[in-house]
Amino acid sequence: MTDPLPPGSTIGILGSGQLGRMLSLAAARLGLKCHIYADSHGPAMDVAAKHTIAAYSDKTALTEFANSVAAVTFEFENVPVDTAKHLESLRPVRPGSHALEIAQDRLSEKTFLANLGIAVAPYAAIGSSAGLASTLSQWRCPAILKTRRMGYDGKGQVSLEADSDPDIAFSAIGSTAAVLEQRVTFAGEVSVLLVRGADGACAAYDIPANTHAGGILARSIVPCALDRDCADAAGAIARKIASALDYVGLLAVEMFDLGPGHSPSERLIVNEIAPRVHNSGHWTIEACAISQFENHMRAVAGWPLGSCARHSNAEMRNLIGRQAEDWQSIAAEPGAALHLYGKGEPREGRKMGHVTRLSPRTGHD
Ligand code: AMP
Repeated sequence: MTDPLPPGSTIGILGSGQLGRMLSLAAARLGLKCHIYADSHGPAMDVAAKHTIAAYSDKTALTEFANSVAAVTFEFENVPVDTAKHLESLRPVRPGSHALEIAQDRLSEKTFLANLGIAVAPYAAIGSSAGLASTLSQWRCPAILKTRRMGYDGKGQVSLEADSDPDIAFSAIGSTAAVLEQRVTFAGEVSVLLVRGADGACAAYDIPANTHAGGILARSIVPCALDRDCADAAGAIARKIASALDYVGLLAVEMFDLGPGHSPSERLIVNEIAPRVHNSGHWTIEACAISQFENHMRAVAGWPLGSCARHSNAEMRNLIGRQAEDWQSIAAEPGAALHLYGKGEPREGRKMGHVTRLSPRTGHD
């Protein structure tokens, strides 16, 4: 596919969560339609032109889905690689299965980043509790043990101190293949939101500072405290990753900021990459002319990228679980941009919506 997809084309999205919902809404602004494919009903299906509910392993349903769309993307990184490969044989899949393969295994991800010369926390592969015990005997705690696969929002992780019991820790993560990571003492967390077009052109949003609570993103603010040189260094890291993956779409790179006492080249450590639009970029809907969601869809459709320039300062707060029950008071607040994802039960830890509040840029930020 070299020509841009014309308005009226349909883009397939794997996954039916809130990211797929916001991608579909952004695509609609451009006159593009979306077809959601997922194994269960989700909020994206309420706003898309079409949806299919079928297993990700159902080759017949996948082929039918591919035949109904001009290109495919995804909104979560745990799409089975075989699913993406099957679709890739039929339609352009952007980003491709290679990015998925790397990002869904923490060990492949860290090895890939380290091979690119990008700083990551010291890590070791763990395959058993005996392996963990032997690694810990030569390790400087505190550390974090993380499952290689299927971990997100702090799930599948356990903290380790010097006196922690390796058997208990390994069984706490489900006795599965894991990565042991040194716990980094950071001044803050930031993320680079980079979009790369089908022609290789790149653009990046201003870098948000992110605060997590219980492993889940709670708040993102822009601008962050990084000075220009550090922000440039962060952007260069993300561009290196995107170009190594021949990536098309929005790529999020989550980083630990070690703080102002470090040089721009040593201040940032990459925690993980997300081959999709990202929660820490939701503020771009209100604070930029072109959001991360629209830019992702532009890239997938082979369109020119839109500007990532930010016209306002912004604070985005997630509404997690019962926090969304405050919707009436948020809705009554002038200027608070409320997003509710249309999910059912406000279960603990479930992302139900978010709210973005803008303030004017002062000239220095
Ligand atoms: P993750 O699932 O890897 O994104 O981890 C969720 C959150 O846990 C991160 O955003 C950090 O706040 C914290 N975290 C994860 N890994 C580390 C680490 N190596 N050192 C310190 N904090 C970490």
